[in-house]
Amino acid sequence: MEGMLITSSSTDSGALPSGALSAVRFDGTSAQARPVLLHFNADRLRIEAADTPDCPIWQGVVRELRWSEAFRHAPRQALLPDGSTLEIEGGARLADALAAGGVLPSRVVQFQRRWPAVLASLAALVLICAVTYLYGLPTGAKWLAFNATDSIEQRLGDLVAQEFDDGDLMSPSEVPIERQQQIAGHFAAAAERAAPGVRYQLIFRGSFQDTRINAFALPGGTIVLLDGLVLGDDGLPPLKDDQILAVLGHELGHVRHKHVMRRLIQTAGTAIAAAVLWGDFAGILANAPVLVGALQYTREFEREADDFAVEFLYANGMSPSPLLEFFRQLETLSGSARPPAFLSTHPSLRERQQRLQGTAP
Ligand SMILES: [Zn+2]
Repeated sequence: MEGMLITSSSTDSGALPSGALSAVRFDGTSAQARPVLLHFNADRLRIEAADTPDCPIWQGVVRELRWSEAFRHAPRQALLPDGSTLEIEGGARLADALAAGGVLPSRVVQFQRRWPAVLASLAALVLICAVTYLYGLPTGAKWLAFNATDSIEQRLGDLVAQEFDDGDLMSPSEVPIERQQQIAGHFAAAAERAAPGVRYQLIFRGSFQDTRINAFALPGGTIVLLDGLVLGDDGLPPLKDDQILAVLGHELGHVRHKHVMRRLIQTAGTAIAAAVLWGDFAGILANAPVLVGALQYTREFEREADDFAVEFLYANGMSPSPLLEFFRQLETLSGSARPPAFLSTHPSLRERQQRLQGTAP
């Protein structure tokens, strides 16, 4: 590279015409680099060949050219309308000239330069690590999950749902809209009676990862109900209304206890911490398996959600039997080649049924 640059011997910045920056130009057809000079004047730029300064190669508004991001160890590039490219080792002078011309660094680059923010991030991570070390990861995760603002959790949930939809992990629902509204209406009334403070949003989808028999909660309180439970699928008859209510009550329990956020924080570690603290979701969304993994709850979380479902049913004048019936039906399906996702959760269905029977008055 060095031999191609005119700057190395003859022209230090002092020898250049005032305000001019030196660069090399590649015309796109040959590998030969030609030295050029850049004259910035506020938002305007004139580019001329170093050997024929009277005849400009290009002139116009700075912003009209496409400028590469500034990286510390690489020359900056600009793309000219004729397809040729410039390579400029201008450093801070170039950045200043571009800024004067309205070409500002991207937000990512700006963030990387904001050392105080980076240091604050590190300090917060150290704090989280300290909480985690002193009280254990589940406690640290719980603290962080309950202290994340609702808007951040909601936005994360929206992004995850969108990621699942766009990535074809979830397919659209085939449940008729009237039936969807009926189920949503029943559930809204029941949730209002049993847990008026818990915010949720119910959405219907056809399948998730090739299974149609499941329901799950996303961050921010989005509950996904899959078609197999409403319409029946794979040997499972359509659930009765009170069974659907029981399943949704169980999912509302996961929402109430912020289980998905706690799992995400435990599994995605610093990426989710960054999302919670600064609204930077790139680290989590880049990793679909982590998102899906966060939906696999621990034994303790399933128990908590089952207990919540029981309270939810009692608060609505019902017994736990619809949930019990549902577990029994799922159990009869477990012999089939591909067990529904509900069956892969940690506590066995038998164990969960025994526990539910124990809660009967
Ligand atoms: Zn569950």
